[in-house]
Amino acid sequence: MQAEIETLLILQDRDQKLRDFLKQLERIPDDEESAKTRLQGDEAALEKCRADIQANEIEMKNIALDIDTRKESVARLKVQQFETKKNEEFRAMGVEIERYGQEITALEDRELEFMEIGEDLRKKREEASAALAETQELVDEELADLGTRQENLNKDVEVLETERSKIAGGLDEDSVETYERLMKNKGDVSVVVLNDGQCSGCHVKVISSTVVAAKAKNGLTHCENCGRIVYCVD
Ligand SMILES: [Zn+2]
Repeated sequence: MQAEIETLLILQDRDQKLRDFLKQLERIPDDEESAKTRLQGDEAALEKCRADIQANEIEMKNIALDIDTRKESVARLKVQQFETKKNEEFRAMGVEIERYGQEITALEDRELEFMEIGEDLRKKREEASAALAETQELVDEELADLGTRQENLNKDVEVLETERSKIAGGLDEDSVETYERLMKNKGDVSVVVLNDGQCSGCHVKVISSTVVAAKAKNGLTHCENCGRIVYCVD
């Protein structure tokens, strides 16, 4: 094989690796983002538990206040009942005291219900907090891995870039320019083999004079269809 083609193929191999590494590097910020979004569900669940507990505490405080108000009324009525001389008033106050007493019992029952709900909610909060910690640990690990990967890829890219410029330096400037232009325009390969006269870049059969030129190994030969540099295997 033509020495120039051999060198171009090595250059192409390094450039393909470089392209692959750069693509992997490009994906890292997205991977980091999606790792972080995995925390959102757990964070929202914990936040809901906290809000529910707060609402429950407010509810319990209100019930306690309602109980206190009624207890004060009962105490006040009892004093008035003691002071009155009228039987009618005494009885009416007794009825009121009874009514307040029933309301207090009902409120205390509700208070117990809310206390139980509160206990459940605190248990749920602990579970949600543990789930978040677990996810956080996994996400931290993933982020650390991504960081290492990024570091390694950057090193690999640096090595490859040095290597490829050394390889390119050994080639004719015009050839490198042609090769790079093709690499950019085609997005995949610049230098391809001719298989039975067929360009393996665009899969079109080239004209016989192109095959002859490629076999002559005199300068670079291009596929007349796609423009890629073609060569024949001896
Ligand atoms: Zn072609």
